[in-house]
Amino acid sequence: MAFYKLTYNEKYRFATLHNYGCTFKCPICSYKLYSGAEGIPGKVFPAPARFLSVDEMKAALESVDIDKVNFMGGEPSIAKELPEMLEFVKNKLSVRTFLGHTNGSGIPIKNLDGANVGLKAWDEKVHLEYTGRNKKGIFENFARALESGMELKANVVYIPGLVDLDQVEAIAEWISKLGRNIPFHIMGYIPVPGQPYDRPTEKQMKMAESICRKHLENVGSSHLCSEDAKRLSKKDDRFQVKIIAGEL
Ligand code: SF4
Repeated sequence: MAFYKLTYNEKYRFATLHNYGCTFKCPICSYKLYSGAEGIPGKVFPAPARFLSVDEMKAALESVDIDKVNFMGGEPSIAKELPEMLEFVKNKLSVRTFLGHTNGSGIPIKNLDGANVGLKAWDEKVHLEYTGRNKKGIFENFARALESGMELKANVVYIPGLVDLDQVEAIAEWISKLGRNIPFHIMGYIPVPGQPYDRPTEKQMKMAESICRKHLENVGSSHLCSEDAKRLSKKDDRFQVKIIAGEL
């Protein structure tokens, strides 16, 4: 797919390129909560009115003071302009390049410094049902990206009844064999309309953190409700951005 929007956070000196489309089909995708696509099977975001040209993206990035460019999705590694934009950001602007959210299907990538990888499930069958893709290639990509020198963070969505504590712990344990200091973030599931799962309780979230801390040094969590997810900029000034190219 392609990038349709470029945003800028002046305080934290980063820009973010937003891609349309994903290689996975997660029914519980939280993007649906603020895209108007709730309850539409296989649909994450309505298609944007237009996509950005490479020249537009480069000109907008050159107009701001930044230390880092994030690439987001859907799944940003499927944007056809990604290799050219990574080369430009890394070698012409000389700033850091990072996939702010990726499902891990496209890493490692040349000129990419790091990524925050969502590992979906430990159980093969659950992974396939949840995402439409096999688990093996994704976990192998994570290990290969780490070995290539990329800075990796991992996260998992804790969904009682689908991705239970045993799977969250198994993922943390697997990561610990690659490095006990790899940052690991547990996100409490934010209910998506039409899906049968409940949000974890505070007690369940605490339990998940404490279990993962047996394996990893750097474990964090978030436990947002759907209203919080729609108003992230009110809770966290990293989400207070202005659009510098694309849809206004
Ligand atoms: S991989 Fe992420 S963006 Fe893609 S459908 Fe799943 S949750 Fe949504």
